[in-house]
Order: sequence, then structure tokens, then C-alpha cells
Amino acid sequence: MTAAYDPQNIFAKILRGEIPAQKVYEDDHTLTFMDVMPQGDGHTLVIPKAPARGLLDADPASLAAVAATVQRVARAVKAAFAADGLTVFQYNEPAGGQTVFHLHVHILPRFDGVALGRHTGGMADQGVLADHAARIRAALETA
Ligand code: AMP
Repeated sequence: MTAAYDPQNIFAKILRGEIPAQKVYEDDHTLTFMDVMPQGDGHTLVIPKAPARGLLDADPASLAAVAATVQRVARAVKAAFAADGLTVFQYNEPAGGQTVFHLHVHILPRFDGVALGRHTGGMADQGVLADHAARIRAALETA
């Protein structure tokens, strides 16, 4: 049986403004911010504002809003980093590789011949993340 949603998870705290994040985009139903332990430059996370542990318990309308934001942000990420491609992924439960239990979708710009970095590797410099968030925001404005 899947565990219940825990409102003390770190992304719920970001949504409530209790801990900081390098925010990229926000609308009524979703929030997008930089991953603090990026697997590559421009590693971005999209989350629903509605509580959901993962894909299986999410409300379909909330999931649809996440999908729309993922497409919008992915276009901007690709443009901001002049990427050759994108990797988009989402994990469910510890067996599926999930470590934060509020639904989130990863967006990573990819470059020909460059391997993906390690999942949950080192913490990135906040100044670098702020710069990357600003680059993606600028690309969103011109999209
Ligand atoms: P997973 O649940 O396996 O999809 O991974 C959770 C992701 O959240 C990892 O890529 C972490 O680097 C990232 N992460 C964890 N804490 C934070 C945080 N406070 N702000 C932004 N990203 C985070």
C-alpha cells in the first residue's frame, strides 16, 4: 500500500514559502524551480500546487496543468541553454527512485555526447542557480 501524502515534505515547504527556492515560473496550479542538486546545468523541476505524492494519486486536472507547464518550461530551457535535446522524467516511490514525496517532473537540457550527471549529487552554488533561473525566465518571456 502507498503511504499517505506528508505535508511536511520539502516541496510542500517551498510551496508554503517556508524554505527558499530559485523560482522560474508560477501559475495558479504549478510552480517551477531549479533543482538544488542538478544533474546538469538547467535542471528544472515542475510541481503541482495541489498535494499529490506521485503520478498515481494526482488529480487528473492537476496533472494536466503540470503537463502544460512542463511543455512550456521545456521549450524555454532548451532555448536558454541552446540544448540539442531534453530529458524529462518523473519517479514514483522509493522503488521507482523517488526521494521527495510531492509529485515533480524533472526537465534537463541535453547536449550531444554529454552524459547525464549523478542523481542527487552535489549541491549547486545558489548564485549559479539564480543565474540559470533568470536565463530560463528570460526565454519564457520571449517564447
Ligand atoms: P526524486 O524524488 O528522486 O525525483 O528527486 C528529488 C529531486 O529534488 C532531486 O533531484 C533533488 O536534487 C531535488 N531537491 C531536493 N531538495 C530540493 C530543494 N530544497 N530544492 C530544489 N530541489 C531539491
